[in-house]
Order: sequence, then structure tokens, then C-alpha cells
Amino acid sequence: MTLAHFLDGLRCACCGQLNALWLDPVRALVECRECGQAALIVLDEGRPV
Ligand SMILES: [Zn+2]
Repeated sequence: MTLAHFLDGLRCACCGQLNALWLDPVRALVECRECGQAALIVLDEGRPV
């Protein structure tokens, strides 16, 4: 079990990797498992979170 939630269909704004982002609800941030850094995410509507 993990507290992290992978975010399908989202692309890392830093490295551009698709489906590499996971949400950490404890720290309330999104991290990328590719570049290993907290990253902004872009939803389908195109607005940053
Ligand atoms: Zn990344």
C-alpha cells in the first residue's frame, strides 16, 4: 500500500514525461518519478495546479 496516487494522463512540466507524476497527499504536492522533483501539472483544461 502507498499513500501516493499516480496521475494517469498527466505530463511532467519539467521533463515532459507522461504518466510519471504521482500525488503525495501528505505533502500536498505532485512529484515526478522521472526527474524526481516536485513539478507543476497541467490538466486537460490547460490550467496549472
Ligand atoms: Zn519530470
